[in-house]
Amino acid sequence: MTTAETISRPTIRQTQCFIGGEWIPAQSGKTFDTHHPATGEVIAAVAEGDVGDVDAAVEAARKAFDEGPWRTMDARERGRIMYRLADLIEAEFDELAALETLDNGKPISDSLAADLPLTIDCLRYYAGYADKIHGQTIPVNGNFFTYTKKEPVGVVGQIIPWNFPMLMVAWKWGPALAAGCTIVMKPAEQTPLTCLRMARLAQKAGIPDGVINIVPGYGPTAGAAIVAHPGVDKVAFTGEYKTAQIIMAEAAPTLKRLTFELGGKSPNIVFNDADLDAAAAGSHFALYFNQGQCCCAGSRLFVQEDIHDQFVEKLVNMNNDRVLGDPFSTATEQGPQVDQAQFDKIMDYIEIGKSEGAQCLTGGTADDAGNLYVKPTLFDGVTDEMKIATDEIFGPVLSILTFKDTEELIQRANNTFYGLAAAVWSRDIGKAHYVADRVRAGTVWVNCYDVFDAAAPFGGFKMSGLGRELGQEGLNNYLETKTVTVALD
Ligand code: ADP
Repeated sequence: MTTAETISRPTIRQTQCFIGGEWIPAQSGKTFDTHHPATGEVIAAVAEGDVGDVDAAVEAARKAFDEGPWRTMDARERGRIMYRLADLIEAEFDELAALETLDNGKPISDSLAADLPLTIDCLRYYAGYADKIHGQTIPVNGNFFTYTKKEPVGVVGQIIPWNFPMLMVAWKWGPALAAGCTIVMKPAEQTPLTCLRMARLAQKAGIPDGVINIVPGYGPTAGAAIVAHPGVDKVAFTGEYKTAQIIMAEAAPTLKRLTFELGGKSPNIVFNDADLDAAAAGSHFALYFNQGQCCCAGSRLFVQEDIHDQFVEKLVNMNNDRVLGDPFSTATEQGPQVDQAQFDKIMDYIEIGKSEGAQCLTGGTADDAGNLYVKPTLFDGVTDEMKIATDEIFGPVLSILTFKDTEELIQRANNTFYGLAAAVWSRDIGKAHYVADRVRAGTVWVNCYDVFDAAAPFGGFKMSGLGRELGQEGLNNYLETKTVTVALD
């Protein structure tokens, strides 16, 4: 039997802006506090970047792109440096996992089992791509030789959220670095610390100064300055669709290339012929993992009518057994929500669910394990038009909807402006593929959930996103195609 232990807290080392290879305070001298969500204590004062800091970061990134060695060095060497970064992260595995848990509040067992390994794997995957980016020769009419080259898109602005801080750095840096781009990144104001630590490791790995620049700060100031800056060629953003709408409008004057990875209200569909134990465990994980703070959370659980009662009983039992507690204890399965605003929003939705007439089977209140804890909440009897069935809650609140037959189910599953992910649980392989074909979502999991791989594209249909991250598609977003035509006589 393994016993719970408490992992020790990490040392905080980097809190300033990282621009042109230097650690510097914000030009204004201002800082903002980042907190440990479980206790509310301030863990660091971090430089609060704004327009002037973004200007300096873009200038450094522009110089590194236009004059520096990163895009022009042997591609294999670029890959080697990226592998070294992955190795350095691996060498600080426990320390970085603890730093993630400190800043975000996620259980240490999740940081160790998910965030760190996926981060390292993603960087290695894209390191391998650095020397495998090539164009085509094209048989055009006439006596010409035409070929295409794939070139880096330039300086990229990358704005990331707080739910998987390190992993989002890897998803953004991996393809950008492999392509030969240079970067101005803004981490989320709730969780800047692992991003800053990774910048230090990138420098140690040999990534030239100016290739990666970090400006911590707030969205409407530092984030907006990145989006508006004419020296930035592309913006990659992960966050809420409402923020993406602002970014799209603000990026219009400079016609930036945009990629978005946004929210969801993903249907998780359980047919009566599924392995119900596996489906129940998978459905619990699909929603409650990471405190429900996942863009692809399986938040609309469609259960076929005739298995409803036995299936719900399993879910109730799992919720009752879920261990809430100190994120630094290895026994903890659920930590606090990331901040007061998120906590308040979730509690509001719980009240809305109750007032809409959904039956609250578990949870429905805060938990006294510490600051900002929400009991795993399960609503049954949810109908399609209830707000808890239409809105992304981003917390540990699961809605159960029942269905009778497949065609009705497909229509209801697609009745949302989101389209990020979906899952189907069934032993009937034909039916599972049929539903996978009909559901309008960027990812469909069959008899599993949240299976991520750096090689597999991820992103949304409809208002869940624009473009794909990961895999070769993720890399393509960081490349421009250049066509060269040579007269042969
Ligand atoms: P969340 O609700 O998950 O925090 P947001 O979309 O608000 O999602 O935030 C995701 C990221 O976008 C954060 O880094 C945030 O600071 C940034 N952000 C917020 N507003 C803007 C904006 N107007 N322009 C650019 N970035 C923004």
